[in-house]
Amino acid sequence: KNMSKQFDVIVIGGGPGGYIAAIRAAQLGFNVACIDEWKNAKGGPALGGTCTNIGCIPSKALLQSSEYYEHAGHHFADHGIEVKGLGLDVAKMVGRKDTVVKQNNDGIIYLFKKNKVAFFHGRGSFAAAKDGAYDIKVAGTAEETISGKHIIVATGSNARALPGTPFDEVNILSNDGALRIGAVPQKLGVIGSGVIGLEMGSVWRRLGAEVTILEGLPTFLGAVDQQIAKEAHKAFTKQGLKIELGVQVGEIKNGKTGVSIAYANAKGEAQTLEVDKLIISIGRTANTIGLNPEAVGLSLDERGAIVVDGDCKTNLPNVWAVGDVVRGPMLAHKAEEEGVAVAERIAGQHGHVNFNTIPWVIYTSPEIAWVGQTEEQLKAEGRAYKAGTFPFMANGRARALGDTTGMVKMLADAATDEILGVHIVGPMASELISECVVAMEFRASSEDIARICHAHPSLSEATKEAALAVDKRTLNF
Ligand code: FAD
Repeated sequence: KNMSKQFDVIVIGGGPGGYIAAIRAAQLGFNVACIDEWKNAKGGPALGGTCTNIGCIPSKALLQSSEYYEHAGHHFADHGIEVKGLGLDVAKMVGRKDTVVKQNNDGIIYLFKKNKVAFFHGRGSFAAAKDGAYDIKVAGTAEETISGKHIIVATGSNARALPGTPFDEVNILSNDGALRIGAVPQKLGVIGSGVIGLEMGSVWRRLGAEVTILEGLPTFLGAVDQQIAKEAHKAFTKQGLKIELGVQVGEIKNGKTGVSIAYANAKGEAQTLEVDKLIISIGRTANTIGLNPEAVGLSLDERGAIVVDGDCKTNLPNVWAVGDVVRGPMLAHKAEEEGVAVAERIAGQHGHVNFNTIPWVIYTSPEIAWVGQTEEQLKAEGRAYKAGTFPFMANGRARALGDTTGMVKMLADAATDEILGVHIVGPMASELISECVVAMEFRASSEDIARICHAHPSLSEATKEAALAVDKRTLNF
């Protein structure tokens, strides 16, 4: 007899890819289970994955707190606000971050109840494929096996360590340790100047650490439109972030009092960097630890990611995979879109993810956000384009804010005027980019944006002006 609980859909992983897929599948009428193993400090469930626990949400909480601190210390005076006896309570700041995380964890538990998703706290692994369904073993406080007709794997990713330098989360930190440093280190090193390195470096610099970022590549933010990257580089350097490009990291010694990093600079000269803490943010690897894909013959590629086609189908019938564990950008909203699309495909609908209109954001100050193609990509493709830029310096709202760094840059097809990419460095770029994503989804021309009424005074007027700049007719610059 078969005692196992039967589900239409079992989702393994409760991060943004998994929990959203579970909710959408439940909305579509399926009987859904979601398995997630993340534990909070008390051993209870902590749904939301990397994003909620040690990624997007806690990093933004600390970025906000540290920015307030920097404003109080450096910018309030410009507004005629005197701050005396400014203090910093790192434990409280980190505690507030933990509260924000918990609100998000609990929010997902509530959403599962509301949508009747059965939640299993523990590790899910493939046990067997039989009778057109898959047996999934759940190892939590107890062990049980559940069975699902469709399986959606959303097991996410882990921080990649430097070979020979394991994370101890005391001195050598991944994003996990970087988000719970107990006191401001005097000197902080960061290896890797990607999104995570820049965001974490910014937090601790604002709180008073002397931050040095070592980057192996010779160009800063190579995937970003270079005009925007250069502007950001200038701003970060002015803030006191030391960024060394083109370095080759050698031996890293983790001592009792700190870390010493030997490296060759861009000129090939031997250097040593001594720091109290070192964050290593050199990328992330797909996570299938404990999933036991061999039991059913689920294919992984040479980098350990689950192999999927454009529709997130794996090599096995009715087994799907979404988010960081598959190809494509490691972004929470990409994972969510794939989760929704897969649930809809299971229901016989035609879910779709447009990879060309996935927005990218770096939540530094100034923020960096973009969608579509960069000028470098268009040049490499030999596509004829027009470019328009507009600086926040000429935007009234930015001046009122006291935050005039950066610009909006719009790229449009030379013949059709269709918007091909928008690149922003400046205040609230993360919010401003949404309009541009919508425009590109609707295949708008720059002229469309230029003719749309934007509220005054608002930062979004810079987007309209950048659209006007494509046709060389800015009104305020
Ligand atoms: P995850 O969020 O990694 O979730 C996977 C879940 O599956 C985890 O809870 C894990 O415990 C669970 N799991 C794994 N294996 C099993 C198993 N066998 N059984 C049961 N459970 C299992 N992205 C953005 O879009 N915006 C940002 O601002 C942003 N900031 C970030 C900041 C940092 C510091 C980091 C590290 C990442 C950031 N990201 C950001 C990336 C984002 O966190 C990921 O793209 C996103 O979390 C991927 O979602 P996912 O559902 O694929 O996987």
